[in-house]
Amino acid sequence: MSRGIPFVLSGPSGCGKDTVITRVRQKMPELGFSVSCITRPKRGSDKEDGKYRFLSVGEFENMLAQDAFLEHNVFLGNYYGTPRRPVEEALAKGRDILIEIDVNGAAQLRETLPEAVGIFILPPSLAKLRKRLEERATDSPEQIAKRLHEARREIECAPLYDYVIVNDDLDTAVEDVCSVIRAAHLRSSHNKSTVNEVLKNA
Ligand code: 5GP
Repeated sequence: MSRGIPFVLSGPSGCGKDTVITRVRQKMPELGFSVSCITRPKRGSDKEDGKYRFLSVGEFENMLAQDAFLEHNVFLGNYYGTPRRPVEEALAKGRDILIEIDVNGAAQLRETLPEAVGIFILPPSLAKLRKRLEERATDSPEQIAKRLHEARREIECAPLYDYVIVNDDLDTAVEDVCSVIRAAHLRSSHNKSTVNEVLKNA
């Protein structure tokens, strides 16, 4: 059995990556998902059983001290981290896992998980991104300004990812992510044992 493949997905707040991820997971139910630990206060749209586990700063720092994170970052004053164990267990069982993190976290994973496939979700324009953030109505105007500033910095990192997918049309973006996941399984580096099997039987 071959190891699972980690897929690291980033994109600025408001680029629609949560919706893309939800749809990809519906289409590919076998795909694992890394639940991040975070210390930011809950927003209306967050659910306890969803993509985040909400911790106090003390709880997060305890886990940090135990080296329980594959990567972590402070984003707009709050901790965000990827717990190490669920990712390692999924990969060892041959299960792919989707890790949704910011560009700083992705840079750390390029060191610690070099086999990860990087996918960057790009908004069609900064103007559309601002409109989406305003329509979401979860942040104050100051927070929106901060998120837009952060978005520009994140987009500058897009060339460091293996794939860039523009989320203009949702269906197309979802299909593009699924195509990347399928194609990753066809890479020669992932199929060494298959090639050897064929040669052995020749
Ligand atoms: P939000 O507060 O809008 O849910 O997320 C803010 C940013 O944190 C997003 O760019 C999101 O991708 C990122 N993020 C979510 N989970 C993690 C994580 O575990 N590690 C890191 N480094 N970033 C994360």
